Amino acid sequence: MKIKETMIKYPLYQFSINGETPFDVYKTAAHGDAILDAIEIQMESCYNDYENAVNSASVHNLSSHGFVDPEKEHLKKLYKSDCDIAKKIRLHHSTFTSTTKRVYNNKCPYCTLSEPNTIEHILPKEKYPEFAVHLYNLIPCCSKCNGHKSEAVRDHYRLPYTINFYYHDPEYCQFLEANCSIDPNGYPSFKYRLAFPKNADPTLTAIVTNHFNRLHLIKRYDEEVIKNYSEIELTIKTVCKGKSLNDALQYLKDYLSNINNDYGLNHHYVAMLRCMIGSPIYHAYLQSIL
Ligand SMILES: [Zn+2]
Repeated sequence: MKIKETMIKYPLYQFSINGETPFDVYKTAAHGDAILDAIEIQMESCYNDYENAVNSASVHNLSSHGFVDPEKEHLKKLYKSDCDIAKKIRLHHSTFTSTTKRVYNNKCPYCTLSEPNTIEHILPKEKYPEFAVHLYNLIPCCSKCNGHKSEAVRDHYRLPYTINFYYHDPEYCQFLEANCSIDPNGYPSFKYRLAFPKNADPTLTAIVTNHFNRLHLIKRYDEEVIKNYSEIELTIKTVCKGKSLNDALQYLKDYLSNINNDYGLNHHYVAMLRCMIGSPIYHAYLQSIL
């Protein structure tokens, strides 16, 4: 299985929170509910399935257990946006998703654009109420991404619609590219696209493409870059005034190497800087503002 080679190498289930496994956390939440007490053995089996699915990067292919009311209703009711498990996941989140370099500055890992002000159920709780409070089924993200992802889980090739930040490594190769052109007003305009290297893992390539399509990321990055670029142009005009083109490019290269490590290879800001440094079209413009 190629997919495992590009998985993040952290054994999630060895990171327990205060010594608790995800099932311990569930049991604490369910404690005292007679309806849920009665299905504890089935729930333990569901949680074991989830653990195996995390370890084989296939959570999206889990089948729903098919709980119906009253169990379904009781399971769903365990989750509220301000419940203890939601608080726990917010605290726990940065510990391991920082490995993916997606949470710098407390941003949504799905888009890296906005604050993660909601908690997303990777397997939706309506169809999978058994995982409504499973720690690794919950991930903080922004309301836009949460809305775009909606109830979607997998496509007809049985591939997930979104990257699972608990095990897919979005840094496995460089795939986000920005291109520069000059608009009719003589001002630089940046457009993003996905550009995978020839040797990229085809499964991960398909998952990343699904992720970008589902969350409308290219369009959202194309909008975001307008503000980001005008800010950096102001800085360039201040810092590099009177300098040579080479000195200005060196300034951009130093800036890129400072942030590259924190932001990651496929961050929209990093891709914009790479384009500014590499594009002859941009160089001609840059020369004109020094
Ligand atoms: Zn987002």
